[in-house]
Amino acid sequence: MSSVALNPNLDTLPVYIPGKPIEEVAREVGLDAASIVKLASNENPLGPSPKALAAMEQVLRNLHLYPDGNAFYLKRKLAEKLGVEPANLVLGNGSNEIIEFIGHAALQPGDEVVVSQYCFAVYPIVTALFGAKLVTVPAKGFGSDIPGLLAAITPRTKVLFLANPNNPTGTLTSNADLAKLLAEVPPHVLVALDEAYVEFLDEPFDSLALIRAGRHPNVILMRTFSKIFGLAGLRLGYGIAAPALVSAIEKVRQPFNLNSIAQAGALAALEDGDHLAATRENNRRGRDYLEATFREWGLEYVPSAANFVLVRVGDGARVFAELQRRGLITRPMASYQLPEWLRITVGTQAENERFVAELRVVLGK
Ligand code: PMP
Repeated sequence: MSSVALNPNLDTLPVYIPGKPIEEVAREVGLDAASIVKLASNENPLGPSPKALAAMEQVLRNLHLYPDGNAFYLKRKLAEKLGVEPANLVLGNGSNEIIEFIGHAALQPGDEVVVSQYCFAVYPIVTALFGAKLVTVPAKGFGSDIPGLLAAITPRTKVLFLANPNNPTGTLTSNADLAKLLAEVPPHVLVALDEAYVEFLDEPFDSLALIRAGRHPNVILMRTFSKIFGLAGLRLGYGIAAPALVSAIEKVRQPFNLNSIAQAGALAALEDGDHLAATRENNRRGRDYLEATFREWGLEYVPSAANFVLVRVGDGARVFAELQRRGLITRPMASYQLPEWLRITVGTQAENERFVAELRVVLGK
């Protein structure tokens, strides 16, 4: 215990348990890092765009200079790609930071935050950090119950977080349900629609149209360069919202939260449509392969709209540990109250086949 009276919210703050880094597992199990496959953090198995790598190398020689605090060029390009204005964008050190910005900008002790059961772990953490109260609505199947979420709203509700597709379940909220949510949510509630995996969808809900129409001052979309763009290590995410909301959130952003390498890499990645298409295709094939294997083996799984699959393996902790001993890092789900399940990120075909071969041995299939 510190002798200093720290923020009392820290006493009960949930802890985020990330996917294990390859190097850490290599040390723990005594394997060569090069032989380890990580399917634990929904990263892009094809790596970063070569165009992004080249652009990042170019900026290294200017690292003695501070980055552009307003990320002018990146915002301009991103706005052009999305069909919105730069004033609609706020950039963060990963979309995790956007979630934290929402806490800083909106949450005070006593406020309520509505989420679905099995929501992304960072929403409860940020809620607790700001002393707000988490209101968790039971999932429907594994997906979000939109009428249930609406019914949970009270005059004290400040924020409603909804990820679509959701992590860790991979479930998708239908376009009709999203439209219902946005039509019926009261104006005092900030709807934070987390679209970290939206680029993997074939027919996404046209959430950007809401921003362009300018009639939803209480909606913020959150997206990231960590998933389909393959730049998780750069830490770059963004919020898309009405200019007034963006200006308010900008006040809580530190001046140089986006480093120069990240800005250059993201700018170039936005121009690499081929890399995106290859990633989408690899994901579609790999996800089909994993889901077909689980069906064949009679393993329960949640059909996924994203780049990972939640599968019921029995004793999740044991299967996780045995896979790890064999050089495969997956994500155990006990912290999501799903101790019998693992979340598997779709890898390259070779990685998926290796995973299936190892899982076959571990489960005795
Ligand atoms: N939202 C969701 C739903 C996620 O799954 C993740 C990453 N696990 C994030 C946000 C945060 O991603 P990042 O901070 O890397 O942008």
